[in-house]
Amino acid sequence: GAAGDQAVAQIESAVNDGGYVLAVDGGVPTEFGGRTCYLWTDRNNNEVTALEAVQTLARDAAHVLSIGTCASFGGIPAGGPNPTRIESLAAATGRATINIPGCPTHPDWVVWTVAQLLSGNVPRLDSSRRPSDLFSGNIHHRCPRRERRTAQAFGVEGDCLERLGCKGPRTRGDCPSRKWNSGTNWCIGANAICLGCTESGFPDSFSPFYRGIQIGDPVRSGDDDDHRRDEDDDEDDERRRNRRERD
Ligand code: SF4
Ligand code: SF4
Repeated sequence: GAAGDQAVAQIESAVNDGGYVLAVDGGVPTEFGGRTCYLWTDRNNNEVTALEAVQTLARDAAHVLSIGTCASFGGIPAGGPNPTRIESLAAATGRATINIPGCPTHPDWVVWTVAQLLSGNVPRLDSSRRPSDLFSGNIHHRCPRRERRTAQAFGVEGDCLERLGCKGPRTRGDCPSRKWNSGTNWCIGANAICLGCTESGFPDSFSPFYRGIQIGDPVRSGDDDDHRRDEDDDEDDERRRNRRERD
């Protein structure tokens, strides 16, 4: 590992040696010719944009790894309105990438994939170009809360969070068994919903993340919301009727 000039020197040395693996974290800004993000200044004193850097380095790389959802699919910075036109590494370079998504990605997923490549094995990939061994499982199918009571509000231990917006049924990954922080816990185990962070549509096509919650009334259930919305609608109708009669 290195930083600054030493890091650039290491990159140049790897390129000269050839057969290197390019691993990039973060989406690539492409608007204005990429001139919203500069990585370093080269030997000729030219500032190098992130776009130029990844395009140059991806060209001769033996493998290109997208680390995290932004590099894999664009992620949060590529969500609307995306003023710097962030693109995935594959879109920005034209190279097919091995995607290791997650927001953030799991360190085990990165280490496992790099270890496979160093051992000469190219992992089998799914249709989103994620390693199938890590991302073939549907979160919902493996979730210990499946078949449990449906939670009407956050803060109730052990209930299924689907009605509150959980995206587990649309998301793939081994989070339920691998967990995070050396197996300490994971999103749903901490009573949070799965946000769908390993999927290519994240975050825009998974929004709104939460259902059945209103500002200022954080524990109101989805059922209550519907019920109260109906009551509000009835009151509005009545007010309109009264106004018409007065007019
Ligand atoms: S909490 Fe989410 S992932 Fe778990 S069973 Fe419910 S919907 Fe599926
Ligand atoms: S459980 Fe869902 S939101 Fe949490 S890390 Fe896994 S894929 Fe991402």
